[in-house]
Amino acid sequence: MFPSLLPTYNRTEVAFVRGEGPYLFAEDGQRYLDFGAGIAVNAFGHAHPKLVAALTEQAGKLWHTSNLYRVPGQEILSKRLTDITFADTVFFTNSGVEACECAWKMARRYQYVSGHPERFRILCFEGAFHGRTLSAIAAGGNPKYLEGFGPKVDGFDSIPAGDLKGVEKSITPETAAILVEPVQGEGGVRVLAPEFLRGLRKLCDEHGLLLIFDEVQTGIGRTGKLFAYEWLGIAPDIMPIAKAIGGGYPVGACLATAEAAKGMTAGTHGTTFGGNPLGMAVAMAALDLVLAPDFLPHVQAIAGYLQQQLGVLLAEHPRVFEEIRGQGLLIGLKLKVPNTEFVAAARRAGLLVVGAGDNVVRLLPPLIIEEAQVREAMAMLSAAAKSFEPKTKIEAA
Ligand SMILES: *Cc1c(COP(=O)(O)O)cnc(C)c1O
Repeated sequence: MFPSLLPTYNRTEVAFVRGEGPYLFAEDGQRYLDFGAGIAVNAFGHAHPKLVAALTEQAGKLWHTSNLYRVPGQEILSKRLTDITFADTVFFTNSGVEACECAWKMARRYQYVSGHPERFRILCFEGAFHGRTLSAIAAGGNPKYLEGFGPKVDGFDSIPAGDLKGVEKSITPETAAILVEPVQGEGGVRVLAPEFLRGLRKLCDEHGLLLIFDEVQTGIGRTGKLFAYEWLGIAPDIMPIAKAIGGGYPVGACLATAEAAKGMTAGTHGTTFGGNPLGMAVAMAALDLVLAPDFLPHVQAIAGYLQQQLGVLLAEHPRVFEEIRGQGLLIGLKLKVPNTEFVAAARRAGLLVVGAGDNVVRLLPPLIIEEAQVREAMAMLSAAAKSFEPKTKIEAA
């Protein structure tokens, strides 16, 4: 019989019934340390009292009105986001891929109203991930995700990352924009070189293109700054964000400069649910948390500690680990053993981690973790690593 639930996921058997800070509790009562955070979503841990209060308070007042009317939460949150970023304007969505879709529609529309309707193509990078709609799989370019879904949506050209000369050669009279994740998350936590990203900014300026940073995964403190672009001394023109901004409630947003957004006039884009009062209330509370003066310094400090501890772990298990990658609390461990097996072994040891491309496991802990939880995670990672190593004579006896 065909499963009642469409079987598109390779799900693990475990189901969780409750969360508290960085811990999750399964149906059988087993406790797990959550270093996956719902794929970089639960940045503030589970059931954060401030987020719970924001959601429940709003839930008692008003859930949804549609975008036919003013939504005060959208007005306040967009003002706050534009005050603290490069952006002048924000469109709210329910997910990362919708924020991305808004980004590339905006880029095409910008060129159209600038007198360049022929410029509609977007340069993207191999190893990228932008979501799973037809246009997003075209932008990601992963053949596994494209297979069997008909002709690839036109207008997305994937090229190797890291080679600025190659990028310049790939710009044609039809190019509208360059789309890049500052750190390729899903693709294997590949940190793109700052010089490369700054070079893209320069190329965009020289050729009249828009620069789109997909910060759906890197945004809201994950790399130790509010947004990863802040490490670079440059800014994009358009920036889709999502994952952590709702702390677990589905919220996304597309941020842009006034210039980049100039084509997005009334009637050009829309959504029924995007920016609904519940999402806005939670995102506002999440922003309060991440903007508290101690928050990002804590992320940077704990990330430094975690990376240092991982260095020790790596040295102890050279047969299992090959390399540590990443920025802040977006960390990848490149493995010499199959990453799916390692994820399972870590889970048996009580630790949740997430796979990524290039045989990497991602460590994406909630940004609120403390040193005690880092040490706990190290013991669990060490136990998982040991399960791949030959037993010593004493252990075997
Ligand atoms: C997760 C992710 C997306 C897609 O977000 P969804 O909410 O799953 O649609 C897009 N871009 C990046 C960089 C992501 O990590």
